[in-house]
Amino acid sequence: MNAPLPVEVLKQHLIDPEICIRCNTCEETCPVDAITHDSNNYVVDPEICNGCMACVPPCPTGSIDNWRLVVRAEAYSVQDQFGWEELPQEKSLPVDAAVAGDAAQQAAGAQAEPAAAPAMLVTPGAAVPPWSAAHPYVNLYTHKTPITATVVGNYRVTGADTESDIHHIVLDFGEQPFPVLEGQSIGILPPGVDAMGRPHHARQYSLASPRDGERAGYNNLSLTVKRVTQDHGGEAAHGVCSNYLCDLAKNDTVQVIGPFGHTFLMPNHPKANLIMICTGTGSAPMRAMTERSRRLIGTADIGKLMLFFGARTERELPYFGPLMKLPRDFIDINLALSREPGQPKRYVQDLLLERAAQVRGLLADRNTCIYVCGLKGMEVGVLDALREVVVQSGEDWSILHEALRREGRLHFETY
Ligand code: FAD
Repeated sequence: MNAPLPVEVLKQHLIDPEICIRCNTCEETCPVDAITHDSNNYVVDPEICNGCMACVPPCPTGSIDNWRLVVRAEAYSVQDQFGWEELPQEKSLPVDAAVAGDAAQQAAGAQAEPAAAPAMLVTPGAAVPPWSAAHPYVNLYTHKTPITATVVGNYRVTGADTESDIHHIVLDFGEQPFPVLEGQSIGILPPGVDAMGRPHHARQYSLASPRDGERAGYNNLSLTVKRVTQDHGGEAAHGVCSNYLCDLAKNDTVQVIGPFGHTFLMPNHPKANLIMICTGTGSAPMRAMTERSRRLIGTADIGKLMLFFGARTERELPYFGPLMKLPRDFIDINLALSREPGQPKRYVQDLLLERAAQVRGLLADRNTCIYVCGLKGMEVGVLDALREVVVQSGEDWSILHEALRREGRLHFETY
């Protein structure tokens, strides 16, 4: 009698739809385009995924780090995964396959160790936090177990006559634990259902307040939310969650999940310098870090803060008034306005070059961390400008860039 054919087992990479916040980071990171999405879920194509793990460190929620041993011929297809509301249970494997499965698990485990290398090639930022960052809590509250926050403030922080309707929204958690750090984000579950009749998925918003609260000592936090009235192509669109948030009134309640993010965190050691580069609502984490530093004045040895902030006009710059009141010896503010009447167009990358000597000086200091947040399109321009600043001084950008990533000193959050 012939021996049975060996059954090939796959350690299948899956994304947990209950935790995933659909932020697109994994799809952007995957070097082989194995990750895709529909209006319901982000999924991994078992035909393409090579288990390189490049997508795992950048995922803010950890939903990416799920694996099931399956018979390869019965792997969950992309179409199967699109329909999921939760991950399937682990299935038992045929006896022959189970043995092969152990081998597959070991092989996949062995593969996982040196995995950071491919990530280096596809994401410009670090996959680790600065060495002195505080340890963040993540995923304390999920789609299934959201926390209710109460709106205690909601007001517009851009000129009333401008197209850009950006709101500062303060949420209070009362006596429920919701520990956060500057640079983290939260998920908001907008009420209602999508066109398919499914509950809306969560949208992610960066914290605009420091760890000890929008009001120091209170269990509250703030967000900076731009009302979406146009899609990325400029066509009229009604953003589900941003409009919901911007229209909230005091004492309304909101369903929140998170917190998220374990790398875009600020350093905590003395003399740590921050270079902060942002546009629009990308100012939220910069406000949080700046305010954290401001509250430490007099009690800690804070380093230099350098801010590069881009907007179309002054009146479209969220928090313009309070920002300009900060002492100049505390923060070096550089505003790049691209549509200010009577002024030449300037973008954050132009200002990085104009201030090359100061930026270079900070880059040479290993206490400096760089944060970039805002529209996706700014990544390339900012990287090019940083490269230019370094090359001008005769140094090798690729060596410095690699060190910045390895040491958790260069962070991007673009959307
Ligand atoms: P949707 O109903 O999801 O989209 C409606 C239409 O608008 C769609 O066609 C969509 O493609 C398009 N669209 C979506 N977003 C934008 C946009 N920004 N500009 C133009 N068109 C858009 N947003 C903030 O306002 N403040 C933040 O601090 C913030 N932080 C974020 C942090 C992270 C890590 C990520 C991934 C996103 C962040 N966002 C932030 C974006 C936010 O999560 C939502 O995507 C945004 O508010 C739009 O959601 P919506 O439900 O209103 O629009």
